Amino acid sequence: MRRATAEPDGTDYVLPDRPRPLASIVRRALDRASERWRRVPADAELQQLNTALERRVRERTHALERLDAAIAARDETLKRSERFLFSIVEHVPDAIFVKDATTLEYVLFNRALERVLGRTGAEITGRTDADLFPPAEAASLAERDRAAVQSTALVDVGEESFRTREHGWRTFHTKRVAIADEHGRPRYLLGIARDITEQRLAEVALRDARTEAERANRAKSDFLARVSHELRTPLNAVLGFAQLFQQDALSPEDRENVQQIIRGGQHLLELIDEVLDISRIEAGHLTMTCEAVNVGDVALEAVELIRPLAIARQITVRVSDDGRRVPSAFVNRHRLRQILLNLCSNGVKYNRPGGSVTISCGTTASGFVRIAVHDEGIGIPADKLPRLFTPFERLGAEQTTVEGTGLGLALCKRLAEAMGGALSVESQVSRGSTFSVDVPSASGVPATPPRVRTVIGAEPPAASGVVLYIEDTAANARLMQRLMSRRPGVQLLTAPDGKSGLRLFAEHRPRLVLLDLHLPDMTGEEILRQIRETHVGDQPHVAVLTADAVPAQKERLLALGADAYLTKPFNVPDVLALLDGTLTEATCGAGL
Ligand code: ADP
Repeated sequence: MRRATAEPDGTDYVLPDRPRPLASIVRRALDRASERWRRVPADAELQQLNTALERRVRERTHALERLDAAIAARDETLKRSERFLFSIVEHVPDAIFVKDATTLEYVLFNRALERVLGRTGAEITGRTDADLFPPAEAASLAERDRAAVQSTALVDVGEESFRTREHGWRTFHTKRVAIADEHGRPRYLLGIARDITEQRLAEVALRDARTEAERANRAKSDFLARVSHELRTPLNAVLGFAQLFQQDALSPEDRENVQQIIRGGQHLLELIDEVLDISRIEAGHLTMTCEAVNVGDVALEAVELIRPLAIARQITVRVSDDGRRVPSAFVNRHRLRQILLNLCSNGVKYNRPGGSVTISCGTTASGFVRIAVHDEGIGIPADKLPRLFTPFERLGAEQTTVEGTGLGLALCKRLAEAMGGALSVESQVSRGSTFSVDVPSASGVPATPPRVRTVIGAEPPAASGVVLYIEDTAANARLMQRLMSRRPGVQLLTAPDGKSGLRLFAEHRPRLVLLDLHLPDMTGEEILRQIRETHVGDQPHVAVLTADAVPAQKERLLALGADAYLTKPFNVPDVLALLDGTLTEATCGAGL
């Protein structure tokens, strides 16, 4: 075997020499014989014989000439087809090589191998890898070659990296197979190596980009959690004081002013919650417990909650009768209600006076439970639909008096998807819109018992006892003092840091400790641990009061022994309920 060439004239490639044409050998022999005959004295009979013989020989000679021509033509065809085959091998982009199975010398290879090795054909022919690579790489290549020679099957070597002369380190995916002689002994080793360096680099770049994106996403989530925490702290004071104010006897005008403060604060709180929820879903941190839920019940709850807003805007809101026949859905009840509330609220906000919003329930062809919220409102132009679920996108509503953040639908869609469902929309301008929430059916999942709403009846017995509030933000401590003034039997002690908090705890043994988590000298977590470890006798009730709304944090603190976890801004009634629940004889020791 020799090196293939793509040269059109084939000069580099020569077939084995063919013997001289048969016809010329015969003709020369005949000429010599005739010459000899001519010299023999003429004899008529012999002459005749000679003439017949000559004619016979000439005929044979012509036949041989035709045979010669056919052989030459066949040779040419063979040469051409071999040149064609070699030219194909030459142009294959993968490096192809044939080595002697015993010496591992290169006997045949294509241009791709020359390019890869950065060597000319002459520098490769008859050489082994030991002549072309540093010793360690050559040894490893030779070892793989030998393994392939010994194997009867094709050996997929997988990835090999080696240093090339002109292109540095390259990575190849190589396959090798031994070629046997007529006795079945390995004669050659055929190898095909595909350069996958670019592919690998692209994969690494993609992996790096993904890692970077995940890191950025985590950083964004952390940032949002932090922002949420920082916003909740002052909001706690704003909403708390406003709620206290509201409970005082106020003039109608003042009451309306306070109501505005509370509405503004709550709006801000909703915004923080929605942003946090979206970022949690995007970071894959939102965990939801799903259960079999009667969607008709949830639809009714949403309608009840939205009714005051609907009445104010003269919109009728109702659940159509079909809800009862629908199978339960396998969802998170709280999140499904959040979605329906959002859709109903939009149905009301973007409606026309006297319009209606209807929730209907059914199943889709693919077996999902469908809850559709239909309104008779302004509708959404088709060209705006692609941006409908983009966070902060209000599609022009920001130029109207309708309040909103542009986050609701973005969150609804992500929530529906997080529950294994989908949210879609159909809309006609001036006719109305239908938003459809498709969620997995709960058929096969055992139904949960209906929820019982707790009805608070008579006034609880008056709370009394010592309460310690460890909190570094003065406004929050002041708010708590004002709040405690509603429970005269309660003595409130406040501490601005962990050290003084623990000292007051040791001195007064409070029955209830309200604990902020971020304190100047130590964490609330550490204080909780010390209280639980050092206190003997009846353990006090410890309620964490924090702006940290991350669910994982809540779970950790509860696992560490906190009895309750309230996020700021806290609801004044919730804190009062906490006091009444822990500081009255009847309920002493009960958790929230
Ligand atoms: P928001 O209502 O707070 O602005 P959403 O994310 O809920 O934010 O909705 C985004 C936008 O989609 C709205 O600002 C409004 O322009 C449009 N939109 C939502 N629901 C409807 C609806 N039922 N009818 C008409 N337009 C709607």
